[in-house]
Amino acid sequence: MPNPLRQHRLAAYLSQSGRCFYCGAAMWLAGVEGFARKYGMSVGRAWFFRCTAEHLLARSEGGGDGQENIVAACCYCNRKRHERKRPMPPESYRRHVLGRLQRGRWHQAWVFRCADGLLPARTPAKMFPKGDQVHVFAQKQKEPNDESTSLFS
Ligand SMILES: [Zn+2]
Repeated sequence: MPNPLRQHRLAAYLSQSGRCFYCGAAMWLAGVEGFARKYGMSVGRAWFFRCTAEHLLARSEGGGDGQENIVAACCYCNRKRHERKRPMPPESYRRHVLGRLQRGRWHQAWVFRCADGLLPARTPAKMFPKGDQVHVFAQKQKEPNDESTSLFS
């Protein structure tokens, strides 16, 4: 990554209190192992939460590398947004992500078992309004290949 972009990523990370622009999850800039320990997840899973420089207007659509076009987003939200040929506008995408988070359908169900503070405080309460966390988690734990699920499947 060119140096100015790295600096913009850091500036955005700091101004967003280390949280993803879209999903609000905590992110890491360096030290994936420490992050994994802090939130009680495997190192492989912690890679979802690497802080990336996200272009609000995609480069493919003429967006530049200036600070005004850069926010900090977790690796997962960034990749998912740019999987589409024409990425959703940032505000629509944020609503899309938050809506899916509230339905427990973003990242993977395992993130909701992680230590407090990974996701914004207001999210978990809304996420499972019927109090069925146990049900969701029990289902997830039965999957034999849970650990080896690829990052962006
Ligand atoms: Zn995110």
